[in-house]
Amino acid sequence: MSRTGMVALPSFNAVRSADNKPRLKPETETQKFINRGQKPAESIDISATNSSNLGLGLGFGNKKREPLWQCIQNCGACCKLNKGPTFPSPEEIFDDPSDIQQYKSLIGPDGWCIHYEKTTRKCSIYADRPYFCRVEPDIFQTLYGIDKKKFNKEACSCCIDTIKAIYGSKSEELNNFKHAIWETSS
Ligand code: SF4
Ligand code: SF4
Repeated sequence: MSRTGMVALPSFNAVRSADNKPRLKPETETQKFINRGQKPAESIDISATNSSNLGLGLGFGNKKREPLWQCIQNCGACCKLNKGPTFPSPEEIFDDPSDIQQYKSLIGPDGWCIHYEKTTRKCSIYADRPYFCRVEPDIFQTLYGIDKKKFNKEACSCCIDTIKAIYGSKSEELNNFKHAIWETSS
């Protein structure tokens, strides 16, 4: 796994409470699509190519392929902790006040984590990073109410939303991520 920074703060559409209901119903572009029963481009378009099969590739024998989440080198988008209004605030994510406090204590004046090394795009405290920086099925379930079976797809969507927000929808980082998750897809 990459030693780039990882902090799993998905966009609003992925954030659910323990009873699997959305914690908030914001009118983000993605949520508007969902409400209208349309394809939410930012969350479902996880294809690396121009395939428009809702993020699922069809291989030989029409076997469905799914991207495999992984953290890529030279990204670090999720270590920008203050990502703006389309992402949930710490208060909207965490129930435990100490988590909120810890999260806020990491935010530097420019919105990036104080432990993020911009020159190398790596976490300087990787081995000791907080639990919420770990993109893992258990963490996604605990924090966001995301079923473990859906972890892979949700983690891919979260990274795509985050990378788009930080580097842009035509960025090299986004291309690299899409290629990586499809290269190792099953
Ligand atoms: S501690 Fe900071 S730099 Fe390290 S993974 Fe978490 S947000 Fe990123
Ligand atoms: S946004 Fe995703 S790919 Fe980029 S550093 Fe974070 S976890 Fe890794």
